[in-house]
Amino acid sequence: MGVESVLLDEKKSSTYKFALMSAVIDYVIEKPNEYPQNGFHNIPIIYLAKRWLYYYYPLMVYGEEGVRQGNTQIALRRVIRDFIEKQEDKQFLFSDPEAILQIKDKIDSNEILDKPLISLLIDIRKRIVEQPLQYTQVTVGKRKEKELVEGVNVKDPSFTLFGLINTSIPLNEHRDYQVIRKKSESWKGRKDESNWYDLEADETAFIQMGHYTYTELVKSRFFIKDAIIKRWIEFTIDSYLEKDAQAIYALFHGLYLHKKESERENVLMKKMRAIATEIFQPMKCIYCESEISSFALDHFIPWSKYPVDRFWNLFPTCTSCNSKKSDKIVELEEKIQHRIEDYLRVWVLYFQTNQEEFSRLGGKEVEYLEMDAIEQSIKFLIEQIRVINKNLI
Ligand SMILES: [Zn+2]
Repeated sequence: MGVESVLLDEKKSSTYKFALMSAVIDYVIEKPNEYPQNGFHNIPIIYLAKRWLYYYYPLMVYGEEGVRQGNTQIALRRVIRDFIEKQEDKQFLFSDPEAILQIKDKIDSNEILDKPLISLLIDIRKRIVEQPLQYTQVTVGKRKEKELVEGVNVKDPSFTLFGLINTSIPLNEHRDYQVIRKKSESWKGRKDESNWYDLEADETAFIQMGHYTYTELVKSRFFIKDAIIKRWIEFTIDSYLEKDAQAIYALFHGLYLHKKESERENVLMKKMRAIATEIFQPMKCIYCESEISSFALDHFIPWSKYPVDRFWNLFPTCTSCNSKKSDKIVELEEKIQHRIEDYLRVWVLYFQTNQEEFSRLGGKEVEYLEMDAIEQSIKFLIEQIRVINKNLI
């Protein structure tokens, strides 16, 4: 996707490009540890729609001025307005910009979403498919040509930058590049109530990203997010003569809803720590082998270098080794490897019997858990640690 075309000073660009970029980055922020499938990460379009709702809802409530560029914005304004007007529950203050927090809580806690909210999400999704995605695809088409000219191996999926994917959506044959236009047929008739999890699971269209690109984005995700927000704010300020302070406030409000989710990593670490306390007894430091009285759950591959809070990278250490090690990369020498293997065995056994918890914690390495031979999965995990470690040194 043409990142540069979003970030460049183009007066004619409209906010949906910022919204698209921001939503993609929010996905990365929310799932820095996502495990690729066949080398790819697939970002469901309905996920992007959810993010758009968070961004635009406060803007709609604060005033139309913040969103007046382009047809998509007009359409968005209409669908969000309709949604607010249709609410029967007048106790719930839908006209309050903070109401989006309540909607977000509903979505995050996987409560049943009522039909108007589902319709709204599907409606926004349709706008995304019809508008910004269509244009980004043009860029993808050009990129492919460029790569061929420069002799880059486009067949290697891990080097695929950013593209649109689709598995089940028919391509528009009127164009020489792949266009994805999902008509939302299967969703239109959707009458049932549904929770967020099911809604996302039903998605058939995705933005697809190679793992290599994804991990690069993970490393600088907050920086990229800030850069996009900065551009969006500047764009909004430039667009209005009257410098609508409320619109700016509303924009920040919607865009920074992700903060809560980045904090979720701490919640995850707390949970991992609680499990570790329960399952690792007795506890010995993986570095100095001393018995631990108060332990630290160490990221063997330092978090600052590879921000992954997965079980296969988390091992108990004494607090003194942990602070000595800090964010240094430690070589996986034999002794350490053996101690790590011991812990991995306990982790894997635990998650094998608690698979639901495993997926709640964002676990995707299911294949390791499903292996019959536990020693084989340990071997794979060790290999994974070794490869990542080596590449970082
Ligand atoms: Zn130690």
